[in-house]
Amino acid sequence: MDLRYTPAQQAFRSEARAWLAEHVPATALPSFDTAEGFEAHRAWERVLYDGRWSAVSWPEEFGGRGAGYIEWLIFEEEYWRSGAPGRVNQNGVFLLGPTIMEVGTPEQQARFLPTMASSEIVWAQAWSEPDAGSDMAAIRATATLDGDHWILNGSKIWASRAAYADWCFGMFRSDPAAERHRGLTFVLCPLDSPGVTVRPIAQLDGEPGFAEIFFDDVRVPVDCTLGDVGGGWKVAMATAGFERGVSLRSPARFTTAANRLVALWRLHADPTDTALSDAVTDLWIRAQGYQLHTYRTVTDITDGKPIGAEASLNKVFWSELDLEVHELAMRILGPAAELTSGDGAAAWIKGFLFSLSGPIYAGTNEIQRNIVADRVLNLPRGS
Ligand SMILES: Cc1cc2nc3c(=O)[nH]c(=O)nc-3n(C[C@H](O)[C@H](O)[C@H](O)COP(=O)(O)OP(=O)(O)OC[C@H]3O[C@@H](n4cnc5c(N)ncnc54)[C@H](O)[C@@H]3O)c2cc1C
Repeated sequence: MDLRYTPAQQAFRSEARAWLAEHVPATALPSFDTAEGFEAHRAWERVLYDGRWSAVSWPEEFGGRGAGYIEWLIFEEEYWRSGAPGRVNQNGVFLLGPTIMEVGTPEQQARFLPTMASSEIVWAQAWSEPDAGSDMAAIRATATLDGDHWILNGSKIWASRAAYADWCFGMFRSDPAAERHRGLTFVLCPLDSPGVTVRPIAQLDGEPGFAEIFFDDVRVPVDCTLGDVGGGWKVAMATAGFERGVSLRSPARFTTAANRLVALWRLHADPTDTALSDAVTDLWIRAQGYQLHTYRTVTDITDGKPIGAEASLNKVFWSELDLEVHELAMRILGPAAELTSGDGAAAWIKGFLFSLSGPIYAGTNEIQRNIVADRVLNLPRGS
């Protein structure tokens, strides 16, 4: 691993920085968990797409830029640095897209990837069920074959962005007689299909950040099956690797937050409080450490090594780091931390509320620790 950027990578950074300086909206868009904000973010995705920045590491034929993973990390650094809007189609572009490239047929790649890159179609992830969260193999929603269609029944919960999204990717039990992990199939489904009901759920901040999805005899053509029938678990594990590994949460998000924390400390904190300055420094160093670790991971990926169970280590690290950065910001802000309007504190409280969910989504941290104990450390299982 060479920690120096090549001249081409430096030129790529300059190009991204200049483009973002010219195009990032001057005022923040409304939250993408509102109807108005969702469409404003979709329009922003279109601007990104037209500039060929919406999916930088995807092949050009699918609407990407054909750039390498290192360039993608550079773009993310510039993106977060510029204060650009959150990515409303992140479940599509960063999770489902790479999965379709890995296991989809050429027809599925041509059909789904370009409209994903442009966010003409925004995707929601429909995996969790009321009794199948950590234990995802307990999924009960069913897919039953009827000629060349699946008939979907059952319900999903906590599907982010589903209140306004266009399609979902879900896991359904297609063979009730098979062993739990083997009878699942990965199906793509339009959310405006007859028989689909979407019921929004408010998050801590009151906005409908996720939704329940009910399927009542929903007919979906079999060409919307991703991977093999009964092979949904394997496909989902590829998606989960992208979610926990490097795709969903690039380090730039955390180095940017850590830099903001340092700025907040300079502005508000007592410089003689060395315990506080030590805590700020520690978090800043950890964010830098995560960034360097990710550069090593993408070097491994570029060398052809798959992301394995180590992705679970990443997930625990970034979610706890994010929470601690926001908790410390709350401490520095003191009573002002509770302000929910205005520029300064309001952004921190919103980020803090969301950071509380980091140890839960993308698989809880308890489950990730189990995976690390079992598959990375090879520790013996408890009785
Ligand atoms: C902000 C947010 C966004 C989300 N977005 C989506 C989405 O887009 N799509 C989607 O499908 N889901 C989504 N989820 C759901 C998320 O994946 C689940 O909440 C998560 O997998 C946990 O499942 P659960 O809520 O059913 O909790 P449970 O599985 O019931 O777990 C409850 C508690 O028990 C612990 N626990 C359970 N089993 C074990 C074990 N074997 N060992 C140790 N501890 C254990 C868990 O860690 C947790 O603390 C989202 C969640 C949040 C908070």
